[in-house]
Amino acid sequence: MEDALHVESVLRFATIFAGTVVVPALLLGWIGIRSIRSEELDVQAEARRTAQAATRTFTDSLDREFQGFQDAVQTRLESGRSTLESPKELHPDLVVALRFDRDLRLEAPFQVEERASAAHSAGGPLSMAAWRSADRYARRGGDPERAAARFAQAASHLDRPEEAARAQFDRGRMLIEAGKVREGTAALQVVAADEGSLRDPWGFRCGDLVALELAEGQLSQDPDGGAARLRALVERLLTDPWTVGRGGEGAVARRALSLAEPLLEPDWVAGARGRIARRSAMLYWAEQLLPELDPAMAWAEAEGVKPGVVRWRTGSHALWATTRWEDDLYTYAFDLDSLTSRLKADVRGVVTREAPVTVFLIGPDEAEPSEVIERRPLAPYLSGWSVAVALRDPAALRSDQAWRRTLRFGIVMISVGMIALGFMTSVRLIGRELDVARMKADFAASVSHELRSPITHIRLQGESLLLGLADTDEERDAAYQAIVRESERLSRLVDNVLDFAAIERGAKRYALRPGDLCESVRRALVSMESSLEFKDMTLEIVLPDDLPAVHHDADAVAQCVINLVSNAAKYSPDGATLQIQAKVGEGELGGRVQPVIEVSVVDHGIGIAAHDLRQIFEPFYRSRDSQARRRKGTGIGLTITRYIMEAHGGDIQVQSKLGKGSTFILRFPLEPPVDTDRGTRFLASSGRHRAGTGA
Ligand code: ADP
Repeated sequence: MEDALHVESVLRFATIFAGTVVVPALLLGWIGIRSIRSEELDVQAEARRTAQAATRTFTDSLDREFQGFQDAVQTRLESGRSTLESPKELHPDLVVALRFDRDLRLEAPFQVEERASAAHSAGGPLSMAAWRSADRYARRGGDPERAAARFAQAASHLDRPEEAARAQFDRGRMLIEAGKVREGTAALQVVAADEGSLRDPWGFRCGDLVALELAEGQLSQDPDGGAARLRALVERLLTDPWTVGRGGEGAVARRALSLAEPLLEPDWVAGARGRIARRSAMLYWAEQLLPELDPAMAWAEAEGVKPGVVRWRTGSHALWATTRWEDDLYTYAFDLDSLTSRLKADVRGVVTREAPVTVFLIGPDEAEPSEVIERRPLAPYLSGWSVAVALRDPAALRSDQAWRRTLRFGIVMISVGMIALGFMTSVRLIGRELDVARMKADFAASVSHELRSPITHIRLQGESLLLGLADTDEERDAAYQAIVRESERLSRLVDNVLDFAAIERGAKRYALRPGDLCESVRRALVSMESSLEFKDMTLEIVLPDDLPAVHHDADAVAQCVINLVSNAAKYSPDGATLQIQAKVGEGELGGRVQPVIEVSVVDHGIGIAAHDLRQIFEPFYRSRDSQARRRKGTGIGLTITRYIMEAHGGDIQVQSKLGKGSTFILRFPLEPPVDTDRGTRFLASSGRHRAGTGA
């Protein structure tokens, strides 16, 4: 039986251990390994992932943008339409489109002309002192004829042909103004014919100036003829290539257009104005970018640009894209400032406002912001440029990280705590289980012993009487008394065991009737007389006759008294004195203070240790104290007593001190309990007994 109990206990322990130790430990391990492995929890990694995604998004969009440009260029070239016109349609930041033939000769809406001379560019128009004084004279409203003479004089003094040509032109102009139209016109025509392609110090082609002057002159006499001449001039200027850096073509064209505007079709005027503006812009950019052009070409040559492939090169003002189509080389220049400042604005929109990072576009000369966690170059398009991602608020990120770490640590610690607690509880529970198992085993042994000893006694005494072995009356008397005493003991034991079994099954019921409690106590004491006498015990009994009637089950109360008195006798030396007393008192029962009847049993025996006091009412519990162990017992007497008292709406209290003796008090409520047919489920009962020390 003990083995079976042991196996059961071990199984129960294993279940509890698995539930409270193994499962939390596995859980802890799982969380630990996951949290260590998982990058999810790593804020830094999260930021890095955001950064990588951001840079990828940006470079992808840049790829798309320039791929779109390449496709547009390709489509135009394939369709035979020039890419040199309307560059903005190819890309919003495209400012100049150039074409070079096999000999690297520029073919564009403009041309690059060698500077007239170094001396000229050094001195400039300031050297034209003679011309200047004539010009000043004319502007101040001097006589046009004299002004013409001064210009003629200046022309003869000026060494450089373009300066002399300009003076000749002004002379003609002044002559016309002075009314010598034919002479003036002839002079202008000579300039146009001889020096028409020369540029004056301000970059105007003398031929253009003459054409403008003559057309303007015609306008007052013959408006339509004049307008037609001006229109032809504009058309010619727009088909001629303009000259980068020194070209006055734009100014002449604009002037001609504004003079003829009232007389020409508005649609044509608007179209011409647009074309002039686009050419002027391109010319402006070409001028800005020219210093970068040669290196770009050198590079393009060195790399060997193949058809259909675009090579990119970042200059200081332009982003150059070069490709080959048939035998020509096409070079497109993007306004670097405009492009990069647009990209700088775009790049910030790549991440959401909530993202823990900020995205930057960093140029070749720009300092990198701090806390950069990701950097991706924008090559091949914008070499030297890169998109960088930096932590927006590193401190907040770090504190977030610390918080997560603490949380993780907290979870682990709580889990460890749970495991420890579970383990301790398991150990305690298993201890209790083992105790109960041991106590049950003790109980079985005690019961069999307790049964055998009175039966043996009774049989021996009976046989001695039957065989006439008891000779004297006294001997016979003693034998009879022994038989009675042992029978009482036997029946008490059987009563207790049967009651305990009934109580455990929840089948024990008591019929509470109003009656004299003292009478029930007395009956119990009478039934024990012979055992007490045998042990030579002295009883001091105080049972007043005038106590109020109490609802009780007389047999059950007698059983309580018998249990207490037989314990008092058992745990006291032979010949000791026991006090049994009943009285009215007051005490707390059922959560309220009320009048009670107390029945106390006092002994001066071995007493009970404080640590035992709390447990003596538990089923099968017997003190481990050696003095108590020497006495035989089953450990269920006090359990039954407590149960009976609870069924009466009362309780049992104990006060005891080791070596001094014990006092057990049964307390009954004076008022009858509501339910007079009572029984409670034994194991579920909480146990309303009180324990104390001191007899
Ligand atoms: P048992 O059959 O062992 O006496 P009980 O339930 O009646 O079982 O008592 C439980 C335990 O309480 C006893 O084993 C004993 O240790 C202790 N006990 C009970 N009454 C007394 C007493 N009057 N004096 C000393 N110890 C007592």
